[in-house]
Amino acid sequence: MSSNLNRRESVQEFDAKLSLADFVVGDSDDPLTPPLAFTQWRQAGAWEASIYEPEMLATADARTIINYEGRPRSVINLCSYNYLGLANHPEVISAARDALAKYGLGACGSPLLSGMTDLHRQLERRVAGFLRREDAMLFNSGFGGALGTISGLLRKTDVAILDTRSHLSLRDGAVLSRSRVDRFEHNDLASLDAALHRRKGRRQLVIVEGIYSMDGDFANLKGLLDMAESHRASVFIDEAHSMLGCGTHGRGAAEHFGVETRIPLVYGTFSKAFAAVGGFVTGAVETLDYLRFYAHSYGYSCALPPVIVAAVLKALDIAEREPQLRVRLWDNARYFREQLNSIGIDTGTSTTYIMPLVIGDRARMYQLGHELRRRGVWVAPVDYPAVPEDRICFRACVTANHTRADLDEALNIIADTLAPALLQNA
Ligand code: PMP
Repeated sequence: MSSNLNRRESVQEFDAKLSLADFVVGDSDDPLTPPLAFTQWRQAGAWEASIYEPEMLATADARTIINYEGRPRSVINLCSYNYLGLANHPEVISAARDALAKYGLGACGSPLLSGMTDLHRQLERRVAGFLRREDAMLFNSGFGGALGTISGLLRKTDVAILDTRSHLSLRDGAVLSRSRVDRFEHNDLASLDAALHRRKGRRQLVIVEGIYSMDGDFANLKGLLDMAESHRASVFIDEAHSMLGCGTHGRGAAEHFGVETRIPLVYGTFSKAFAAVGGFVTGAVETLDYLRFYAHSYGYSCALPPVIVAAVLKALDIAEREPQLRVRLWDNARYFREQLNSIGIDTGTSTTYIMPLVIGDRARMYQLGHELRRRGVWVAPVDYPAVPEDRICFRACVTANHTRADLDEALNIIADTLAPALLQNA
């Protein structure tokens, strides 16, 4: 898609009443041909959609450069999951460079057959030790890790009970397992209780996130664990966004809430605070020994490149050695959210470094998204079905590397751009 589209160049008016949920019926006689209405809708909304897949021209730092409408644009980056600022850390880069020189680029095989290196083993032991577990296994993506772990453990007669706001990797894993898939209202204990009652007598797995990736709120872990345990159900927590960012030592939401000993299996990703790519699961040797053979995304997919493994090892060293990074992250998050709220921006239920800036209207969100980019603030557009239609929003993530000056400048631009537009429609 051309990145220098102009609003006026749109062929037809973009129909902002439609969403991705309207094009899931296959109406052509060939599955390789998408619905015509979808293609037309995309073409008419080309200007709106040009906000997606922006090209970064530099590192995912607090300030970066993106290609906006065909030109390099400096932006304050409130998009990247680089929570501790490690993506461009000199020690991380140097560890990666050393590994590249020694091991070359790719692992060139599945970890089961030929892709495992001594570095991969070292990272398995390091992650297991850090999270005080017996063993760990690595996946080449966080999505694949969640998908493989859940589909590898659940069976047809089991029940997966997911929070309604759970990430698609978790839901897809449950669907792939062919188990029964139920949902409960976000963080709602009565709704979970009812779901657990409905399938009494079956093996049940309650699936939640440490920090929810769109809303930026925590799972109510203590209450959820109490409820699940009272039904003898197990709990699976996706610590993608909470790992390294939460807890005194960075061991995630489970450490934050003091419930680590009640969680048998810990899943997380290397794509957020670790600032690399990949996923992991850690827990009992027997469970992981089983998973190595039944998580298809593990055994049937190439191992992580050694260069990434080396970078992740170094990122973990730094995150352990420098707890002040977490302090800065949380100070920044608190400051930014309070300031947003003080200028009238609705940040929903966020209590963390992820915060929605609720707009609640599709057409207005795209208009304002372009305006923010033009003025130098980079936030992510979040449309339905990733969030409910009345919660269409921008998502902002702050990091330890943002300075007060970065945040203040972004706040000024947001106040100028969003606050008047939202007031008009209040
Ligand atoms: N779980 C959650 C909660 C996520 O937000 C994401 C991705 N943003 C994933 C899993 C998948 O992780 P990855 O991007 O590392 O594949």
